[in-house]
Amino acid sequence: MAVSPAPGRVEDLRAANRAVLLNLARTLRTMPRRALANQSGLSRAAAYAIANDLQRAGILANDGIGTSSGGRRPQLLRFVPDAWLAIGIEMGERDLTVVVTDLDGTVLHRDQVLADSLAPSDAVAAAAAAVARLRTGFAGRRFLGIGFASPGTVDMDAGRVRGAVSYDWHDVPLADLLRERTGLPVFVANRSKAAALGELLRGAGVGARHLVYLYAGRGIATGIVVDGELYVGAASAAGEVGHVTILPDGPPCECGNRGCLHTVASGAVLLEQARAALAAGHDGGGLRRRAPDPQALTTLELARAAREGDPIAVRLVRAAGRHLGIAAASLLNTLNPDRFVLGGPLTEAGPTLLEPFLAEVEERALASTFASARLLVSVLGADAGSVGAASLVVRRASLLIDQAMQRL
Ligand SMILES: [Zn+2]
Repeated sequence: MAVSPAPGRVEDLRAANRAVLLNLARTLRTMPRRALANQSGLSRAAAYAIANDLQRAGILANDGIGTSSGGRRPQLLRFVPDAWLAIGIEMGERDLTVVVTDLDGTVLHRDQVLADSLAPSDAVAAAAAAVARLRTGFAGRRFLGIGFASPGTVDMDAGRVRGAVSYDWHDVPLADLLRERTGLPVFVANRSKAAALGELLRGAGVGARHLVYLYAGRGIATGIVVDGELYVGAASAAGEVGHVTILPDGPPCECGNRGCLHTVASGAVLLEQARAALAAGHDGGGLRRRAPDPQALTTLELARAAREGDPIAVRLVRAAGRHLGIAAASLLNTLNPDRFVLGGPLTEAGPTLLEPFLAEVEERALASTFASARLLVSVLGADAGSVGAASLVVRRASLLIDQAMQRL
């Protein structure tokens, strides 16, 4: 959770110390002032100065008098998680999910809003309008900032979406655009990376140190957390497991390569195969019931049809589960996480996906990497991305609160 400071700068050191104390207070919940010094490793003077700042910001509040361990009975401080709020937005396939969370990542409000189109300008306009409504609805409350979970590859430092092929987004300065419309700090991450942070803060990843989140939806991607921090790689492109080769001479992929995991397990390709099977007259009553027009089928509906036993959907989802399991075994062997979370709409298929998935993981992962990882299905489900987007703000809370207090 700590903000990593650049070495050697005094203000960064202060920010890092503030983050340490904020996280400690979040863990302890109620504490005597001196516990903040004793348990943080900071000097008493430094800890008390920061505690005073946090009290001024409303994050710590007086909470009565505690019991004495010899000497004067201590004044207690209480962590106030909703003193400041964060907004998380995830760009979905057709709409945006918008959540408000407190500093614990607890969702206080959730909304689904439609954009006029998938164009960046319309997405930003819909997001800005949603933020304006939230500020009216939460009048008098203080917002720290906005996190945005975007499709495609994202330059996280610049808050720019480099490219999202299926949305036709190219080099979109999303953070700048949304900040201009809202006046709030904005942070952007790819959806799977955001979802990994969401699960870490509030879902199946709570307590994990090294986490891999595997998203199985229209596309396939991972969010990787190492030592509590998101691993993004040299070009913020780490985790593109959908484009790892799984069949050397397999079918062509949308990325230009051949035989990627995407070509055998992505919702996009499964839907094409389902439509072809329906067109060829195979039995697919469940699929036809869900979407009389096969073009309107979604990955989620395909997964639900598989859960209900539709034969086309079952065949496709079982094959996807096997291939996802093969990829997951490689991820366990490469990264040796202590937590592995499978998420995304395909998980709605339940055992039809999970049984072949787990069988492949268990067979192919090394005994040591398999034994040291807890494998779980996403707890946050469709909210993982938006909660994770809010966590981009929550993780920077100590810095953002300081900046906000200076503006007051
Ligand atoms: Zn590919």
